[in-house]
Amino acid sequence: MAKGIWVFAEQLGGQIKKVSFELLSEGRKAADQLGEELCAVLVGKDVTGLAESLGEYSADKVYVVDSDALENYTTDGYTNVVADLIKQYEPSAFLLGCTVTGRDLAAQVAQRLQTGLMTDCTAMEIADGQLVFTRPLYAGKVFVKAACPEARPVMATIRPNTFAAVANPKSAEVVKVDANAGDIRQVIKDIVRQVSERPELTEADIIVSGGRGMKGPENFGILEELADVLGAAVGASRAAVDAGWVSHSFQVGQTGKTVSPVLYIACGISGAIQHLAGMSSAKCIVAINKDEEANIFKVADYGIVGDLFEVVPILKEELKKV
Ligand code: FAD
Repeated sequence: MAKGIWVFAEQLGGQIKKVSFELLSEGRKAADQLGEELCAVLVGKDVTGLAESLGEYSADKVYVVDSDALENYTTDGYTNVVADLIKQYEPSAFLLGCTVTGRDLAAQVAQRLQTGLMTDCTAMEIADGQLVFTRPLYAGKVFVKAACPEARPVMATIRPNTFAAVANPKSAEVVKVDANAGDIRQVIKDIVRQVSERPELTEADIIVSGGRGMKGPENFGILEELADVLGAAVGASRAAVDAGWVSHSFQVGQTGKTVSPVLYIACGISGAIQHLAGMSSAKCIVAINKDEEANIFKVADYGIVGDLFEVVPILKEELKKV
């Protein structure tokens, strides 16, 4: 059997991120087609117990690096252990979620190994016996298919919610690796966690987002009420963030978060290219805007031309009945 399709099992505080299960599920199909094994790489402190859950999503093998030095993500520490693992076991592909951590780690590891990396991918397929990835260019104006035939491993970061996470239980072999975190130059002095009942923006299936059309911070309450009915996360355009109405952690777009939910409801957002760059891969886009010429309607699957302050409450009441 060839050397394997690897998936970075991203965890935070002992919780595996959903995107890791999504990558394993899609990685399973690729591994079967290519005749390779599917492996997860799990790094952290006291994480060994999480390996079983990766087997639930069809990993054949889980490489675990469990060390006090790796309690929190640091670019140095994680790059050192992951790059060393890859050098030792030589997988043919290494997939990571396109998250803050995944993006940082992928870039560092690819540079360390001098291998090819495709970022922000929205699809993966096999053609001529190799992995081919779809990724956006020019802030999502065009999508290209790209492969790295010479690169080993071929690396890619893939947007959360691109693939379905499908449980497929296997009793994964757990391989404990005594990798050295090496010299960690970053010092983490404090961790501030945002506590929210809502799903994390980049992992949410449904997002209700507000822009300048919300007119002020006090009006985000109507979006939160709609989000509560839908079990959704709340997002925002940069205009709303720059105005100080919501924190930057809400921002969707080129300089904010990239999201790929099943449903994205844009309220009072014009659809500037920089906003579209972060959400145009949503599977269904609903736009509510009083300007029928607004650019957002060009990418929307459903458009409602109207005043959001009238439309959103009606939508909420109707959805409550479903
Ligand atoms: P506007 O463009 O002002 O649109 C407001 C919309 O609300 C209008 O279409 C209006 O018709 C509608 N509206 C008003 N009142 C109502 C109402 N009562 N009911 C219904 N509709 C109403 N932007 C991002 O979002 N994310 C980014 O990451 C980002 N990064 C950027 C990076 C760079 C380098 C640059 C230059 C810009 C970036 N921008 C980003 C900014 C972007 O260009 C736009 O300025 C911004 O997205 C506009 O936000 P908006 O749609 O909320 O506001």
